[in-house]
Amino acid sequence: MVDLSIIDKQYWELVQRYPALHLEYRDGKNFVTGNLSFSANYQFQQIDDDYLIEMVIPNNYPDSLPTIKDKANRIVGGFHKYTDGTLCLGASLALRLNYSKQPSLLGFIEKCVIPYLYTYSYNCKYGSLPYGELAHGWEGILDYYKDLFKIDDNQIILRLVKALAQNQYMAHSRCPCGSRKKVRDCHGNLLKKLLSLQPKDEYLSDYQGMLIEANGNNYPRKG
Ligand SMILES: [Zn+2]
Repeated sequence: MVDLSIIDKQYWELVQRYPALHLEYRDGKNFVTGNLSFSANYQFQQIDDDYLIEMVIPNNYPDSLPTIKDKANRIVGGFHKYTDGTLCLGASLALRLNYSKQPSLLGFIEKCVIPYLYTYSYNCKYGSLPYGELAHGWEGILDYYKDLFKIDDNQIILRLVKALAQNQYMAHSRCPCGSRKKVRDCHGNLLKKLLSLQPKDEYLSDYQGMLIEANGNNYPRKG
């Protein structure tokens, strides 16, 4: 059951900063729609832009995070966008960690959505993607997990994230990284911590996207 008071409170904070965004309730869900106007400066390049967005707040928020569409369809398919038009804001785990720095609707907009829109506007203006973590897509998501696990092998990363998606953590079994150690003596603590951060289904979507990327299939490549 969604706690309306949390959403009302967080929407109030959001609208102080972005007054053109409106909260509405329809089809059993909360939506925040309107013009998101931002001025951002990452990597010393100032970008001022605005996007007509629709944010869907899931009924189990904040266990699941909101999703975003650009209602004016400015963002072309193929650029970190799912086939239903939802923007692919990055690895679910990376989003969760960014969100946890400022766990509110305002934080979600500022830590997860604006960096994405900045990247798109930057690409339109300069014809290239900015460097580093802003340049995501499935390849970036793979890199993200490589960094996290300190492992530079696609197949091993896939095995570890698959273990997260299946939530088959067993301290006595062998670590999915292939070290032949027991998981509790290897990546066990990290896997346990990751499983406490977000539901296993979120890891499943990362796993499926990375599997396609790692196997060299071009669909549904994002970036
Ligand atoms: Zn291991």
